[in-house]
Amino acid sequence: MSNDKNKAAAATASAPTSNFLRAIVEHDLADGTHARAGLPSVITRFPPEPNGYLHIGHAKSICVNFGLARDFNGRCHLRFDDTNPEKEDTEYVDTIIESVKWLGFSYEHGGQEHLHYASDYFEQLYLMAEYLISSGHAYVDSQSADDMAKNRGNFGTPGTNSPFRNRPADESLALFRDMKAGKYKDGEHIVRAKVSEDAMTAPNMNLRDPAIYRIRHAHHHRTGDTWCIYPMYDFTHPISDALEHITHSVCTLEFADHRPFYDWLLATLAEGGFFAQPVPRQYEFSRLNLTYVVMSKRKLRQLVEEGIVAGWDDPRMPTLVGLRRRGYTPESIQLFCERIGVSKADGWIDMSTLEGSLRDDLDPKAPRATAVLRPLKLIIDNFPEGKSVACTSPVHPHFPERGLRTFPITRELWIEQDDFMQVPSKGYFRFFPPIGEAPGSRVRLRHGYVVECTGVDLAADGSVAAVHVNYFEDSKSGTEGSNSYKVKGNIHWVSAATALEAEVRLYDRLFTEANPDAGGKDFKTLLNPNALEVVSAWLEPGMSAALPGERFQFERHGYFVADMVDSAPGKPVFNRVTTLKDSWAK
Ligand code: ATP
Ligand code: MG
Repeated sequence: MSNDKNKAAAATASAPTSNFLRAIVEHDLADGTHARAGLPSVITRFPPEPNGYLHIGHAKSICVNFGLARDFNGRCHLRFDDTNPEKEDTEYVDTIIESVKWLGFSYEHGGQEHLHYASDYFEQLYLMAEYLISSGHAYVDSQSADDMAKNRGNFGTPGTNSPFRNRPADESLALFRDMKAGKYKDGEHIVRAKVSEDAMTAPNMNLRDPAIYRIRHAHHHRTGDTWCIYPMYDFTHPISDALEHITHSVCTLEFADHRPFYDWLLATLAEGGFFAQPVPRQYEFSRLNLTYVVMSKRKLRQLVEEGIVAGWDDPRMPTLVGLRRRGYTPESIQLFCERIGVSKADGWIDMSTLEGSLRDDLDPKAPRATAVLRPLKLIIDNFPEGKSVACTSPVHPHFPERGLRTFPITRELWIEQDDFMQVPSKGYFRFFPPIGEAPGSRVRLRHGYVVECTGVDLAADGSVAAVHVNYFEDSKSGTEGSNSYKVKGNIHWVSAATALEAEVRLYDRLFTEANPDAGGKDFKTLLNPNALEVVSAWLEPGMSAALPGERFQFERHGYFVADMVDSAPGKPVFNRVTTLKDSWAK
């Protein structure tokens, strides 16, 4: 990639382009909408439920929320929306915290950590629910779940009031307290909000007396067995935002229909004296849809639990732990999120955009190295046995100041199998043997000598066992006169005597189709059988010093990372992060 393009990429990352959210924030800052003593004027939050691993879609939300805080001198909270005790676990809390930090964001601001849990607010949430009941804004419903569903109506069909809707407030309150005291079984009663007298006929289903508290005799990963009633998401979320003085509550479009309840709840509680105005405002953007992956937690879990992938951090997974292990950098993911932008328009982002961001990030960073992935022996017959000549190559072709790497050339080398053809096709400039009167091909061994192919050894099954060449001693790269050899092929190699043998995992996209879970397709029938190929490769000797997580460009092959889990000292295992070019482009 050209330096200009690098500069453009760096510029994109450092100078954020405007989007509708940034415009809203700028407008609010100019108007002083959220100016409050002792608080930043921009406070956002990222609110995951700790019920799974974060994926690339969450990265968009993280970059949007933490990015707004960063760009407008505000702060962003990490808040766990942990109100579903059965599905949640501290394992997920830990990985989510780690992933947010790995992506390069911090919830620390002005010396304070803004790591929050909705469960920290259970007491306050409970008291606010009591207030809503006492003030006639909520009631305890004792219908069966079936009746409740039936009476809710449908899109286009109005609902019917519950027979318990006009239950006296003190009766509801007594029931709610007994619910809390554990006197009832799961589902026996539920607390519902009453947004207006005719709310059950509201066109927006989310306003039809939404449930705000339910009975769940379940152990919570943080509050243990303290509670047997738990607040619902639509009740918890706005209140958590308000308690944390969030200014811009940014979420994905599917929550747009929840916004009227969000606004009603906070306005009602502000009237009740629980919150000062201005209360938080909710804004929605379109979620990330990325081709060649599935992102639903349920489907990702299926891949893990059915052993289709090796775990949540399998390098083929779109989880942040998977992308990290695959070799993605946090910067490349931030760059990707900046490039795809933020809008309200639904659409699909092509996987190549993510891979392109990765290449643009790695190209200037990654040191170069040589790897032969599918080895074929090459013997330089006129090169004395035991002789070794040092060859050098820049660590990075665009940055000479990073120095040179040194590796020896010896009589026996490894080259790629596809750098040899017994009968060359038209325009093939790599190795082929003499044919009839015509001599064998002349090729430069990159950074080494020009050699001429003299013959080939075949194995009993007819396959190529070794290629023979002679070298020209005065053709060494970088020496005077070496340019007088005009050759069209320039191929990479490693010395068989010193090369490091290493397991290299060639990863590719997990699915063969762009939309593996669209239109009722069974995503598990669309797995790419070539998403992982493991080869035993030969690497230039310096690679034995590669540290887990260190990334390289293996020339002609792509970007590779020393696997963080399976590499041992002196014995790295490499993952292919991505190829040099988009091999999926049509
Ligand atoms: P589920 O609701 O099935 O648990 P989820 O992916 O919505 O899954 P959350 O933990 O609720 O999980 O997500 C946290 C935040 O990440 C939410 O604000 C959500 O809007 C956002 N988010 C989730 N998926 C995407 C996506 N594909 N693109 C952008 N933001 C997303
Ligand atoms: Mg969700």
